[in-house]
Amino acid sequence: MKALLLAGYRNLQIAELPVPDVGPDEVLVRVAACGICGSDVHGYDGSSGRRVPPLVMGHEAAGVVERVGAAVRSVNPGDRITFDSTVYCGECANCRRGNVNLCDRRQVLGVSCGDYRRAGAFAEFVAVPERICYRLPERLEFAEAAMLEAVAVAIHGVKLAQVPLGGTALVIGAGTIGILIVEALRAAGCARVLVTDVDQKRLALAKRLGATEILPSDPTLPERTLQLTGGEGADVALEAVGRDETVAAAIDAVRKGGTVVLVGNITPLVNLPLQKVVTRQIRLQGSCASAGEYPQAIEWMASGAIDVKPLITAVAPIEEGPRWFERLYAREPDLLKVVLAPNANS
Ligand SMILES: [Zn+2]
Ligand SMILES: [Zn+2]
Repeated sequence: MKALLLAGYRNLQIAELPVPDVGPDEVLVRVAACGICGSDVHGYDGSSGRRVPPLVMGHEAAGVVERVGAAVRSVNPGDRITFDSTVYCGECANCRRGNVNLCDRRQVLGVSCGDYRRAGAFAEFVAVPERICYRLPERLEFAEAAMLEAVAVAIHGVKLAQVPLGGTALVIGAGTIGILIVEALRAAGCARVLVTDVDQKRLALAKRLGATEILPSDPTLPERTLQLTGGEGADVALEAVGRDETVAAAIDAVRKGGTVVLVGNITPLVNLPLQKVVTRQIRLQGSCASAGEYPQAIEWMASGAIDVKPLITAVAPIEEGPRWFERLYAREPDLLKVVLAPNANS
């Protein structure tokens, strides 16, 4: 089969690889669409240490079931499906608590980090366990369905934020996840959503997709948020960047007793304004991937409550993968989600 192989750092090639074997509880998927995630771009040059070559990356995908293992019952060949990016065991203490994103034996598709190597979906076929598969409604196109993983991540953050009824949320960062958080907040009934970013075009898109107010990303952000909330601050801030300045701004912009949900983690360490967090009794809540939000994500996308189409910059055949990775890596402006279609030319 044809695959986009990370042969070395910053070296992607179209390669011919064997079609994966399918275990008794696994499903072989003919991949129709697979999105390029920011984490793939960060792994591409070796900086994250999570994409050790040789590796087929890709964990935001959808396609058609080609073949199923002997023990598979819930999906059949021909079904249109998507699947979780996290391969969880279903048996450890965290899985039994429902926190499948925290599984002790967690693997992520298209990741190799030293502990494990798991082939991803930038290929004509990928094998995944049945338990992570979800059937897709007819009306969802594959390219949209490839966004479900990101939508589930956004919904997970919103769920953990516990925005009070009639509350105000501030979203910091209007990249793909930030904008999807805006949409998820609105779909969940949050009436007032402020959003900030350095990029005016992204802010305009966030506004079009449901943000009620947009704010410039500069040192005045906390003050402006206070002005807009009767001097109190936002009830919750969802931080979708992960740098010193943005985490500090989130802490400054929430009210006493407010919540900061930390989703972005572009840097491994940030300075924490400890006294502000303690004396203003701020709840800091990490949010990792998703845990059971796929059905909600499918429902909201199918109903139109969450619209992902404006976030898709391009759908391209897999042969164009190397070029798109370079463009994303170079941080070319105005690029949001790029979706590769491994079976487009076959
Ligand atoms: Zn991702
Ligand atoms: Zn587990």
